Amino acid sequence: RAKEQGKNSYFVYESTLEKYLFEKLTFEQELRHAIENNQLELYYQPQISLCSQKIVGVEALIRWNHPTFGLINPGDIIPLAEELGLADTLGEWVLQKACHQSKDWQNHGFTPIKVAVNLSPQDFLQHALVERVKQVLIETNLEPQYLEIEITESMTMDVDHAITTMQALHELGVQIAIDDFGKGYSSLNYLKNFPIDHLKIDRSFVNDILNDHNDVKIISAIISLAHGLNLKVIAEGVETKEQALFLSNLHCDQAQGYYYSKPLPVNEIEKLF
Ligand code: C2E
Ligand code: MG
Ligand code: MG
Ligand code: MG
Repeated sequence: RAKEQGKNSYFVYESTLEKYLFEKLTFEQELRHAIENNQLELYYQPQISLCSQKIVGVEALIRWNHPTFGLINPGDIIPLAEELGLADTLGEWVLQKACHQSKDWQNHGFTPIKVAVNLSPQDFLQHALVERVKQVLIETNLEPQYLEIEITESMTMDVDHAITTMQALHELGVQIAIDDFGKGYSSLNYLKNFPIDHLKIDRSFVNDILNDHNDVKIISAIISLAHGLNLKVIAEGVETKEQALFLSNLHCDQAQGYYYSKPLPVNEIEKLF
């Protein structure tokens, strides 16, 4: 078309923009439809004890299997859901789905393991969060110790809100993990005041652990700090056997990453149990 119109590319631009806007609108409508009609999926990635080499938990990670674009990752789902005002619906769906799945595995005779659910900043600020978690645990009949809530450091900036919310969650018997630890703004102060069970060391420290001596120092410091405070440490993004061995020698408690398994759909993760 550009050729036909010679140098007059204005029309091309306009039609591209229109096409873009049309596609965005279609995509939004499709996401709305997918959320409202239960077409999103949770994938699960195993968390391995470095001591026993057994699966001790799974992290639930959202996916959208789109008919034309294929598998879409959370980075493209969550911001759009927020834009559409569907963050709440989505957050509640994830919680419900993960707890239900975990109980379902128990009912099928698998050894009970913890399921970890990521909260968005919006989920964490939602004043009905604790009531929602409580309600979901009742509805799904999942014992609270088998649910872990993952939050990031940036969500703890409002210290009063964070303490109140985390204490209330902890009183329900739910476990709490700090995700991407070390990546954001870290205040060591909250570690002693917040009821935390796990620190998840951010992938960026684990990546280069075999080459970068500074990363080793940081990880060992995080591990001894955590153990001193009675917290367990999970290393994220473990991609090789050598990294796993190295972390095990540093007394890291658990590991998660492509070396063990990518996040998998339900029927595939079950084969690993
Ligand atoms: P996250 O919670 O830190 O999750 C870990 C991310 O690292 C996942 O990406 C996972 O697929 C990826 N990963 C795991 N092992 C490896 C590895 O060995 N190497 C590399 N390079 N990557 C690895 P994913 O699934 O794209 O999720 C990205 C982020 O989106 C998550 O980071 C989490 O913050 C957020 N997210 C995922 N699911 C949900 C959800 O249901 N609700 C909310 N609010 N956020 C979610
Ligand atoms: Mg996470
Ligand atoms: Mg993480
Ligand atoms: Mg994260």
